[in-house]
Amino acid sequence: MKYAAVSYRRAVLEKGYTDRLLKIDLSTPAITIEEIPEQTKSDYVGGRGYCLKLVYDGTNAATRYDSPENVLALSGGPFCGETSFVGTGKFIAGTISPLTNTFCDSNVGGHFFPLVKLSGFDAIAVTGKTDKKLMVVIDADAQEISIIDAPDGDVTIHGAEGLIEQWKGDGKAANVAFVTAGIGAHNTWFGCLNSVYYDSRRKRCRSKQAGRGGTGTVLTAKGMWGILVKCNISRGHANHPADHEKIYEAGHKLRDIIREVDPQAMRLNNQGTTSLIDMMNDNELLPVRNFQFGSNERAKAVSGNVFEKEVFTQNMPDGCYPGCNLSCTKGCESYVLKTGPFAGTQVGVDGPEYETAATATNLGIFDIDYMLEYSWYCDQYSLDTISAGVTMSFAYEAFERMLLTEKDTNGLKLCWGDARSALELLHRVAAGAPGFPKALGYGVRYMKQWIADRAALRLGRSRESILQELSQFAMETKGLEFSMYITRESLAQQGGYGFALKGPQHDESWLIAIDQLRKELPTFEDKAEALMWFPLFRTWFNIVGLCKLPWIDVRNPKAKDTPFPAKNLPTVDYYLDLVNGTLGTEKTLDDLLLESERCYMLQKLINLRQGFGTRPDDAIPLRAMAPVFIHEYLSRKNYYDTCLGDAAGVALDGATNEKRLVLLQEYRKSQYEKLTEVVYQEKGYDRHGIPTDEKLKRLGFDKPEFMEIVRAARKRVNERAAAAEHAAQETCAVN
Ligand code: SF4
Repeated sequence: MKYAAVSYRRAVLEKGYTDRLLKIDLSTPAITIEEIPEQTKSDYVGGRGYCLKLVYDGTNAATRYDSPENVLALSGGPFCGETSFVGTGKFIAGTISPLTNTFCDSNVGGHFFPLVKLSGFDAIAVTGKTDKKLMVVIDADAQEISIIDAPDGDVTIHGAEGLIEQWKGDGKAANVAFVTAGIGAHNTWFGCLNSVYYDSRRKRCRSKQAGRGGTGTVLTAKGMWGILVKCNISRGHANHPADHEKIYEAGHKLRDIIREVDPQAMRLNNQGTTSLIDMMNDNELLPVRNFQFGSNERAKAVSGNVFEKEVFTQNMPDGCYPGCNLSCTKGCESYVLKTGPFAGTQVGVDGPEYETAATATNLGIFDIDYMLEYSWYCDQYSLDTISAGVTMSFAYEAFERMLLTEKDTNGLKLCWGDARSALELLHRVAAGAPGFPKALGYGVRYMKQWIADRAALRLGRSRESILQELSQFAMETKGLEFSMYITRESLAQQGGYGFALKGPQHDESWLIAIDQLRKELPTFEDKAEALMWFPLFRTWFNIVGLCKLPWIDVRNPKAKDTPFPAKNLPTVDYYLDLVNGTLGTEKTLDDLLLESERCYMLQKLINLRQGFGTRPDDAIPLRAMAPVFIHEYLSRKNYYDTCLGDAAGVALDGATNEKRLVLLQEYRKSQYEKLTEVVYQEKGYDRHGIPTDEKLKRLGFDKPEFMEIVRAARKRVNERAAAAEHAAQETCAVN
C-alpha cells in the first residue's frame, strides 16, 4: 500500500551539491523537499555537518532516541560519489543515540548515498513514528518518492538479492541500494544501519555498516524498515566539478601512492583491515579477555595472512565504491552457517573487519569460523559488532569474578574461549530474550547497574562497592563501548577516546599507531597538538563524504621529509585539489580545519544542551589507563616497573607487587588528568571542559541560543561543586 507519494523534478548536481533536503515525517506520513540554505552549506558543508545541524534544529534537551521528534539524519558530502577520486562512497548517519542520549554519528560506505545524491538530495531527515512497518522508496528514474509497506519477511542481508531484483526493473541491479536494520536493532540499543548494494563482480549483495551508537535502533524505533533508492543515471562526472581535470590528476596521483605503498605496508588490498590483527598483537595492543591483555600467541591462527590466503576471495577488486584502488572490502564467498536461525545456509560474508575480529580475541576466541559467523549474524541482525562484543566480554569478566552467576544468565556458562556459548548468547540478545540477554542488549553502562543490583543482593555487599569494582573494567565512556584497541600504553590514544565527543570510537582520533608504534608523539605538547589537529582533520573526512584510510593508512613516502610525518601532508595536497577542483575555490588546509572546528563545536554544544559534555564525561575507566588487577600487572611486570622507575622516576625499592600496581595506577591517572588540562587549553575549553566565550566568538557561536547552553552548563558545574563541598563538610562533621 502507498501511504504517501510525491513526484519531483530531480535537482542536478552542481559542484558536488544538489542543495536539496528530503524530509520524511512518518507520523503523518508526509514527504517534503526543501532547499538547503546557502548559509547552512557554508557553515556546515555536508555529511556530519548537515547531520549535526538537522539534529540540533529538530531536537531539544528532552529528546530521547525514541522520541517522535528525534531526527535520523543521513548525508554524504560534496565529494561523495566522485568516481575520479579515491574513497568517495561514504556518508554519515547521525541521531540522538539510545546509548549516549546525545548526538552520535557513524560513517558508512557503499553505493547508497552516491545514488541518493544522483537522485537529487544532499541529505535525508527522517522524523516521526509509525506503528506500521514502512519503507521509503526514492525512484529517481520515475522521479517519484513514496512511503509504502516494508518488504515481506525479515529482509536485511538475507533476502537482499531478491529485493534488488524486484526493484531493478529494466535497470541494473547495481543501481539499486538500500539502508535497513533488522531484528537485533529492534531488540537492543546498539543496532546498526546496514548499507546494502549489489556487487556486480561478486554477483551478490554486500553490506557496510553505520555501526556505532544505535542508528539502526533509532530507525526501527520509528517503525521503519528502511530507505531504498533506484537511480540509473550515469555516475561518471555526475558531481559536475568546476575543474574535472584537476580532480582526475589528484586522484591519479593518490592511486599511484596506494599502488606503491600498500603492498609493502598494511596490505589492506589483500587482507582488508584484518592486517591490523598482527600489528596490534605484536605490539600488545590487541584486546584479549575484556582488554586485560594486549596479545596472545594464538592470534597467529587468525592473522591477516591467514585471512588473505585461506578466507578472502582474492581474484577481484574490492572497492566499496568505484574509484578506490585500496579496495579493502574483503569477503569470504562461501561459508556455511553452523548456528542460529540460518544454520546450514551457505552465505557470503563481508569482512570480518579488524574491529569485529578483535571482539572475538577479546572473548579469548581465536577461531576464524567464529569470526565469520559472528560477523554475518551481526550484520543480519543489525548489531554493532563492537558494542555487542564489548558488552559480552564485560559480562564474561563479571562472570569470571563471580559477580554474575549461571542463575543470572539463564544457565549460560560464560567461559573465555567458548565460541559456542558466545554465539548462543548473541542469538538470544538479538532475539531480545527476557532477562540477561535483554539487559546485555542495552550495553555496558546499563549492564553495570543490572549486575550490581543482583550481586549486591546475593553477596550482601553494598551496591555502590560492586558498581565501583565493575566500573574499573567496564569499557565504556559517555555510554558508548570502547572500540578495539588497548589504550593503556598510549596516553595519546587514551585522550583520543576520552575526549571524543561521541564516546570512545577511533574514527575521531586514531593515534595509537602514531604514538605507540611509531613513537611520533614523544612530549605532552606533541600529544596535545595531535589531540587538537587529528580530530579536526578526521572530522573533515566525515563532513565531506570521504574514507580516511587512503590518507591515514597509506603514508605518502614524501611525508617523511615534512616536520610532522603523521599528518601525511603530501597526500593532504591531493585532497586540497579535490576540494578546489570540485568547488572552484582556493581553499587552504586551514580553511578546511576551520570548517571542521565549527562542526566540532556544534557537536560539543549539543552534548552540553543534552546535559553532558563536561569533564566528568571525558573520564575513562581504570583499565583504559593501567592494569586493574595484580595478574594483569604481573603479566608485564618488567615493562611496568621500567615505566614507573625509568620513565616516571618513581622509587620502587622494597615495594611489593601490590604496592607497585597501586603506584602505577596513580601515576597513569595523574598523567591523564595532566593531559586533560593541556588538551582543554589547546581546544579553547575551561578546566571543566566548557568552551570559553572567546572560542565561541571566534567560531561564530556567540549567539544567545548557544550562550544560553553554555551558561546552563556552567551553572550545572557550579552546583555540582557546591553539592560535593557540602557532602565533604557533612562527612567531616560526622567524623
Ligand atoms: S579504502 Fe576501503 S573502506 Fe575506504 S573507500 Fe576504499 S574500499 Fe571503501
